[in-house]
Amino acid sequence: MCGIVGYLGHREAYPIIIEGLKRLEYRGYDSAGIALFDGTNLNISKTKGKVADLENCVEKQISKNGNLGIGHTRWATHGVPNDVNSHPHTSNSGNLAIIHNGIIENYDSLKKELISRGYSFKSDTDTEVLINLIEDVKKKEGLKIGKAVQIALNQVVGAYAIAVVDKNSPEEIIIARLGSPLAIGIGDNEFFIASDASPFIEYTKNAIYLEDEEMAIIKKGKDIKIRKIKDDSLVDPYVQQLQINLEQIEKSGFDHFMLKEIYEQPKAINDTYRGRLLREEAIIKMAGVEDNMKKFLNANRIIIVACGTSWHAGLVAEYIFEDLARIPVEVEYASEFRYRNPVITEKDIVIAISQSGETADTLAAIKLAKSRGAFVFGVCNVVGSSIARETDAGAYTHAGPEIGVASTKAFTTQITVLTLIALRLARAKGTISSSDFRHYLLELEMIPKKVEKALQADAHIKEIADIYKNVSNFLYLGRGYNFPVALEGALKLKEISYIHAEGYPAAEMKHGPIALIDENMPIVVIATKTGHYDKVVSNIQEIKSRKGKIIGVVTEGDITVRELADHIIEVPDTLESLSPLLTTIPLQLLSYYIAVMLGKNVDQPRNLAKSVTVE
Ligand code: GLU
Repeated sequence: MCGIVGYLGHREAYPIIIEGLKRLEYRGYDSAGIALFDGTNLNISKTKGKVADLENCVEKQISKNGNLGIGHTRWATHGVPNDVNSHPHTSNSGNLAIIHNGIIENYDSLKKELISRGYSFKSDTDTEVLINLIEDVKKKEGLKIGKAVQIALNQVVGAYAIAVVDKNSPEEIIIARLGSPLAIGIGDNEFFIASDASPFIEYTKNAIYLEDEEMAIIKKGKDIKIRKIKDDSLVDPYVQQLQINLEQIEKSGFDHFMLKEIYEQPKAINDTYRGRLLREEAIIKMAGVEDNMKKFLNANRIIIVACGTSWHAGLVAEYIFEDLARIPVEVEYASEFRYRNPVITEKDIVIAISQSGETADTLAAIKLAKSRGAFVFGVCNVVGSSIARETDAGAYTHAGPEIGVASTKAFTTQITVLTLIALRLARAKGTISSSDFRHYLLELEMIPKKVEKALQADAHIKEIADIYKNVSNFLYLGRGYNFPVALEGALKLKEISYIHAEGYPAAEMKHGPIALIDENMPIVVIATKTGHYDKVVSNIQEIKSRKGKIIGVVTEGDITVRELADHIIEVPDTLESLSPLLTTIPLQLLSYYIAVMLGKNVDQPRNLAKSVTVE
C-alpha cells in the first residue's frame, strides 16, 4: 500500500511532491521516487529507502524544475524493496511513466504475453507490466494516452490507484482507481492528486474522491473529466469541502506522532461524543443508527468484521453489545470471514471496523456480506473512505488523522462509538433501565477527564519501560472487558518494539502460558476493581509463586495488588464496561517508551504500513 502524489499547475512541482510524500510515508516506506517533467524531459529519480534518501538522490541526479510531476512512496508487494523496483516505472520506449498503489493480480500472464511481443522488463514489479501494457495498447491502436490507459485497465485484474504521464502529452496526468484510494485537490488553475488529502491540504480544501472503476484525465487549464473505466460514460464530479487542517496532521511539539496521538485521546473521545451524547436530555443520537433502528431491533445477531487493532475493538464491543443490548455478537477476522462460506442472512447486521476505511480484507468482507443480503454498518475514521462509501450506513470515529502506524486514538474512539451504539440500542430495546442509562451517560462524559488522569502516569511508566526494555518476551493478561485490552497491549509492544508479546485471558494462563513464567518474564496484568477482581488477584498469586515480574494495571487506591505486584500503574475508577478506555492508556505508553528506548522507528515500524490496502 503505497502513497502517491502528483501535481500539475503553475508552481514548481518538486517541493509539493516531496512534502506530500513525507506526509504519506505512513502508507509505506520501502522506497521513494519522483518523475518531473521540465518541459522537454521526463526526469526520474528513485531509490530504496525513505523520502529523505530520495531528496539526496534528486540533488545529485536530476533537475528539480517542472510544473508537472508524480511521486511515490512504496510498500512492496511484488519484488524486493530496491532501487530498480521503486516507482515511477517507465515503459520500454521511455515515453510513459507510472506510479501505482495496489496489485495487478494477472501481471504474470500479461507479462508473458508482452515478452512474447518483444517487451523487456527491468524490475520484478507488477506495475512495470501495467505501464508496458498501456504502451502496447497505445502503439497498436494509435491512441491518445487517456484512451490507452482505459483499454489497458479493462484487461487488468486486481487493485490500483495509478497516475500515468506521457512525455508526448506534457500537460496532462491520467489517473484511475479500483480498490485503492485516490483524491484530487482542485486549486486555482492547478491540480493535486494524492492517496489522501494531506499532501494538498494547505493549497486547497476542494477535493474529489475518485470512486472505484473511475478514471480522470487531468489537463492544464481544463475542467476535470471523470469517466467510468468500463463503459467510458461521464460521471458528475462531486467536489467536497475538506474539514481537516495542516496542524492536525503535524506533530505539534511531540517527538512522535504516536505520542501525540496517545495524548490526543481525551479530545478525540470528546469529538466522538459531540452531537451524539446528550447527557442533559438523557439521549444518544446517532443518525446512522436512528435511520436504521428497525433493522437493528429486528437483527438476529451482529457480526463484527475487522483486522488488527480494530478487531480488538470489535472484541470489546462483543462484550458490551451482549451485556447491554442483549444481541448475540460474533467477531471475525475479515480475512477469514471473506474466504470461508459464512452463514449470513438478511436478519444479520455486519459491523465493519477500520481506521483508514481502506482495509482490503474488511472491504471484501463487506462486499460478501452485502451480496448475501446483510445490512452493513461501517465504523471508520477516514471520512469519505472506501468503507464509508461501501456500507449501508455508519458512524465515523472523528478521531482526526492518525499518522503513527501503531493505532492508539483510533482504537479508543472505535470503542467509544461502539459503546454509544450499544447503549442506544439497549435503550431502544428496553434492556437497560432509564436510571442505568443516565448513569452510563454520566460515566461516559467523565471518561475524557479520566483518560487525562491516566496519562499522568507517563513518567512512572517510563521508569518501568526502562527496567524491562531489554527482555525478549512479555505476557499480557486480562479478563472480561479487559481481555481484548491485553491482546491490544501485546500487539502494540510487538508492532513497535519488536519484542515478542502474547495477550491471554487471565484464566487461560494455567492452560499453557504459565509454562513460560520464570524470574525473567514480565507480565502485565489488568486488575481493575470492577470485573472479576478476586479471580485476577488469584492469577497474580499464581504468577508470583513462579517468580514472574508483575506489572499491575489497577484502580486508583488499590491495596491488594500493590502488595503483590512488582510495579503498579493506577487508572481512575469507572464502570467495568468502560474500563478498556482507561486501561489501554498505560499499555500504549509502555510500548511507546520501550520502543523509543530501544531506538526503534516508532511511527513507522519495520514491515508495517498504516492502511493495509492489499490482502
Ligand atoms: N504492487 C506494487 C509494487 O510492489 C505497488 C505496491 C503497493 O501499492 O503496495 O511495487
